[in-house]
Amino acid sequence: MRVIGNLAQNGRGIKRAAQKTSERRHCPAARIRALCATAVASLLAIGTSALAQSSAEEARATVKVYVLRNVSDRNLNVSWAENTASQIFAQAGVHIKWQLGEPRRGEQYMPIVIDLSSNTPKTLAPGALACAQVYEGVHIRVFWDRVQKTVRGANPLGTFLLAHVIAHEIAHVLERVDRHSETGLMKASWTKKEIEEMGAHPLSLAPEDVQLIHQGLLQRVTQQAAGAATNWAAMALARTKSDCVRGAAF
Ligand SMILES: [Zn+2]
Repeated sequence: MRVIGNLAQNGRGIKRAAQKTSERRHCPAARIRALCATAVASLLAIGTSALAQSSAEEARATVKVYVLRNVSDRNLNVSWAENTASQIFAQAGVHIKWQLGEPRRGEQYMPIVIDLSSNTPKTLAPGALACAQVYEGVHIRVFWDRVQKTVRGANPLGTFLLAHVIAHEIAHVLERVDRHSETGLMKASWTKKEIEEMGAHPLSLAPEDVQLIHQGLLQRVTQQAAGAATNWAAMALARTKSDCVRGAAF
C-alpha cells in the first residue's frame, strides 16, 4: 500500500508538474506578464527617446554662459547685468544659463566663455567695449573699465550698459556672423540717448537677429551630434576673427 500510495503520490506530482508547465505555456496570467514586460520595455525605450528629444529641444533654446569675473569693483553688479541680458534673450525665446568658473572637459554642448576684465591696454581694440570670437563661437572679452568710462562712472547705468554689451557679443557668437542691425541691441554702436535709456527700456533683438540666433543654436546642437570636439575649455583663444562693440562715449 505504501508503494502504491507513493506511486499514486508520484503520479499526482507528475500531473501537477505537467499542469504548471501547461500553465506557463497557456495561462492568460503568464501571457499578461509577458505582454507587460514587453510593454514596459517599449515604454522605457519611448521614455529614453523622449528624454533625448527633450534634451535636444532644450539645447536648441538654451545656451550656457560662463563669466570669468576678473574685476573687483563695488560699482560692478554682474548678477544684475546677467539678469538684464537674460530678459533681452528671453524675448527671443532663448534661455541663458549663467555659470561661475570655467567650463569643464566634456561639456555636452558648446558653451560661451566671457572674460570680464579691467585695466585694458590702450592698444587692445582701441575704443571697443568688448570683443568676441565671432566665428569660433566660444570666447568673449568685455572691458569693464571702458564701460565705466563710457558712462563716466554712473551707477547703475554702467551695469545696464554692461548687460547690453554682454548680450550684444553673445548674440554675435550665436549668430556666428559680424553683421549689425539698423536698430536695437545689434547696432554697431549705440547713441548717448540709447545708453541713457537702457535701464528703463532694454534694447531688443531685431527679428532677423532672432532668426539667426535660433539657426546658430541649432547649428551648435547639430555640431555636437556630429561628434565635434567637446573640450571647449581647451579651445584656442586667438584663432578667428573678432568683433568689437563700441557704443557712444558720454
Ligand atoms: Zn557687434
